[in-house]
Amino acid sequence: MSSWRTMWLAVAAVVVLSGMMTAERRPAGQPRAAVPAQASAAQKAPASIYLRCGMLIDEKTEQPRRNVDLVIEGENIKQVQAASYDQMMPKDAVLIDLSHETCLPGLIDTHTHTLLTGDVTEEDYNKQILQESDAYRAIVATQAARLALSYGFTTIRDLETEGAGYADVDLKHAIERGITEGPRMRVATRALDVTGAYPVLGFRWDWPDWPHGVQVCDGPVGCRIAVREQISKGADWIKTYLDGGYRVTANGVVEDRPTFTMEELNAIVDEAHRENHPVASHAIGINGVHNGVTAGVNSIEHGMYIAPDDLKMMVQKGIYYVPTLFVGEYVAQGRAAAGAKVWEQMVAIHGDTFKRALNAGVKIAFGTDAGGFAWTVNPAQEFPLMVKYGMTPAQAIRSATVTAAELLGLQDEVGTIEPGKYADIVALPGDPLSDVTDLEKVNFVMKGGVVYKKP
Ligand SMILES: [Zn+2]
Repeated sequence: MSSWRTMWLAVAAVVVLSGMMTAERRPAGQPRAAVPAQASAAQKAPASIYLRCGMLIDEKTEQPRRNVDLVIEGENIKQVQAASYDQMMPKDAVLIDLSHETCLPGLIDTHTHTLLTGDVTEEDYNKQILQESDAYRAIVATQAARLALSYGFTTIRDLETEGAGYADVDLKHAIERGITEGPRMRVATRALDVTGAYPVLGFRWDWPDWPHGVQVCDGPVGCRIAVREQISKGADWIKTYLDGGYRVTANGVVEDRPTFTMEELNAIVDEAHRENHPVASHAIGINGVHNGVTAGVNSIEHGMYIAPDDLKMMVQKGIYYVPTLFVGEYVAQGRAAAGAKVWEQMVAIHGDTFKRALNAGVKIAFGTDAGGFAWTVNPAQEFPLMVKYGMTPAQAIRSATVTAAELLGLQDEVGTIEPGKYADIVALPGDPLSDVTDLEKVNFVMKGGVVYKKP
């Protein structure tokens, strides 16, 4: 297996869910809206919206607050104040009563694939790459984006299109322009890997142009050119695949086969950083992680085994860890059934690595690899696993708000509920600080002052 995706898919469940969400559009909250024919374009925008929250986790104050009004004007949070009596509200303000709910900042998933619909087996993956056009996949991706928003993820970092070119850039723009609904996006476009390391692989050699899930680059010069191409076409992040060929040793270390030489990897990181673009690196085993950390990438994705010295270096260099625990457990059985038992063996090692990273003080950002499993599965199932392996619910929520916003460089815009930031707010019945699985029950979603889902 050369990579996360080299793997097998199972049942590519492209379940077309329609009507998952009802967007309540207010023209004032739609920046750069390019579509004239919005259903409620004629609807008059209220001067302000009051969200009355029974409990508020604002990620600003230590303790959750009770009975708070969030005053929203346009795209932004204007005020956070004690719940006012209705007669204190301006006449033209709209009240949304969430007094039986907990409000918190819109969640951030820093590792998604909107252009994928699950790839438990190699067959699942190859079907999408070989049988579906980029146009078709982009249409399906609009559904993934809608689902992400409905689960409460108001911002995502989409970590490569898996063979669908630059369709993530188009999806991001279509969402920004109000053409389709979805989270704020940071995108990585095509990702990079070396010749012969990334699927589709193993088909007839005399057909030279089988499509790949990445942009293949070799040599420091070739890889610099690839980084420049991707940035020129809209990549916010550069994604690299640093290892494949996993094997668990007798003492519980995940051995791997590195992809890039250090010369190539240094060139990629240097070129991306010179152009002010961060680098995310898929690295599952000891060598891939070590190479990434040594080269100074910005985030290590998956990291099923990380050596103690590399955890220390991650702390020193401020490199983030995006563990994606849920997808590892989700695909393990299917891949083991298809012959790759290593995926089952790695689950416990992954949990142990997570604990060691937490204890070492590594910055851990929430990420799920959604798209690596079907989008019909709520990615919030990552939260209970983070708690199982040592985080408090409060820490797990912070990883998906404040820490994730910092990783994305969006800490001035999202991640907390405070005046001046985007009104990206979700709410749910229950108290996620005592039961973190409540985060799977988000029933109110506001992004940029626009309500997309209501209880
Ligand atoms: Zn991924």
